[in-house]
Amino acid sequence: MSLDQVLTRLRAAERKAGRPEGAVTLIAVSKVQPADRVKSALEAGHRVFGENRVQEARDRWRDLAPRYPGVELHLIGPLQTNKVRAAMDMFHAIHSVDRSKLARAIARIAEETGSRPTLFVQVNTGEEERKAGVAPGEADALIAECRGLGLPLAGLMCIPPESEEPSPHFALLAKIAERNGLTGLSMGMSGDFEAAVELGATHVRVGSAVFGARAPGI
Ligand SMILES: *Cc1c(COP(=O)(O)O)cnc(C)c1O
Repeated sequence: MSLDQVLTRLRAAERKAGRPEGAVTLIAVSKVQPADRVKSALEAGHRVFGENRVQEARDRWRDLAPRYPGVELHLIGPLQTNKVRAAMDMFHAIHSVDRSKLARAIARIAEETGSRPTLFVQVNTGEEERKAGVAPGEADALIAECRGLGLPLAGLMCIPPESEEPSPHFALLAKIAERNGLTGLSMGMSGDFEAAVELGATHVRVGSAVFGARAPGI
C-alpha cells in the first residue's frame, strides 16, 4: 500500500460514515522507517507525522522538518516525565497523557515556556497490564484533573488489544469522550482505520500501510 491508497481509502471511509471530507486527519506513523520513505511522503505533500520516541523523533526531524514548512509532529508513544520538556519543544500534539504526574509536568512546563501542544488522554480500553493508558474507570477523573490544570485537551486515544476485535474498544473510547464533552478521537491503525472512522475517529495513526513494513519486533 502507499500514502495515496491510504488517503483514498480514508476519504471513502469518511463518505461511507456520512462525515465531511477531511474530517479525519491521517497521522503517518514514521517511527523506524527509512528516511527515503519519509521523504517521499513529504515530497507528496503530506505534513502530519507520528513518532513514538522523543529521541528518535528529534534525530529524524531536527534537520528535516525545517525544510518542509507546515510539518506537524504527533507523539503517539509513552512519555516519561523527564522527557516532557523535550517533547513539548518538538511535538504539536501528545497522544499519551495517561497519569496525573505527567499531566502536572506538562502543565508546569506549559506555564514556564508558553508551549501548548494539543493533548489526548490515552485510555487502556482493554485494561491490559502491560499497556500504557489510564483505566476506563479512572478516565473521567484524569480528564477533570487535566482541565483543572488548564491543559488544552483535544480528546482521547486508544490502542485496542492485538488479539481482539477493535470496534468495541473504539466504541468505548467514543462513549468516554462523549460523556466528557470531548470531540477528538485518536484511534485506528493500518489494520482497522476504516472501522475507527465509522465509529468517529478524528485522527487515525497509520504506519505500515503508508510506508511499508517496519523492521520486525517494533
Ligand atoms: C506504531 C504505532 C501505530 C501504527 O501502527 P501500524 O499498524 O503500522 O499502522 C499507531 N499507533 C501507535 C501508538 C503506534 O505505536
